[in-house]
Amino acid sequence: MAKLCCVDYGFECEFAVDTENVSELIEKFAKHTTDEHGIEYSQEALMQFMIRKHNSTRFEDAYLQVS
Ligand SMILES: [Zn+2]
Repeated sequence: MAKLCCVDYGFECEFAVDTENVSELIEKFAKHTTDEHGIEYSQEALMQFMIRKHNSTRFEDAYLQVS
C-alpha cells in the first residue's frame, strides 16, 4: 500500500492519495498540489518523498518499472 498525505509535506490540508498503483499515486498527488497549492512537484521529487517516508526500496523498484 502506497500513500501520500498533504499534511506530511507541511500543508494544512486533509488531502491524501492511497492506492496500490505508484504512478497513479504520484500523478494524483502532483495534480492536487499544483491545483490546490500552486506548487508543482516533479515525479522525481514525489518519488523521493515516498522513498524517504517508507524507507524502502520497494517504491524505487516500482518506479523503475514504470519509467
Ligand atoms: Zn493539499
